[in-house]
Amino acid sequence: MILNHNSIKKIADKAFRTHCLHCGDKTNLILTSPPNFSFLTRYKPRNIGIVYQCSSCLDTVFLKFKVSRYEEYKIHIETYLGL
Ligand SMILES: [Zn+2]
Repeated sequence: MILNHNSIKKIADKAFRTHCLHCGDKTNLILTSPPNFSFLTRYKPRNIGIVYQCSSCLDTVFLKFKVSRYEEYKIHIETYLGL
């Protein structure tokens, strides 16, 4: 996934289908709290969290990702590290 400085479209359009830890359903996750480009480029963490909503039970699901590269106008978020 790529987070652009002026758009969350590529993050929002990336579908995740996983088992929800709350209801146990294999379900689609809906992005509810996208990462903030300004904060990430300021602190450059190696791992980040993104918050989604389970489409079955509507509870909050937090996923952790590895950032592979920071560029001036893009952040490359590559590896899904789990819940
Ligand atoms: Zn659920």
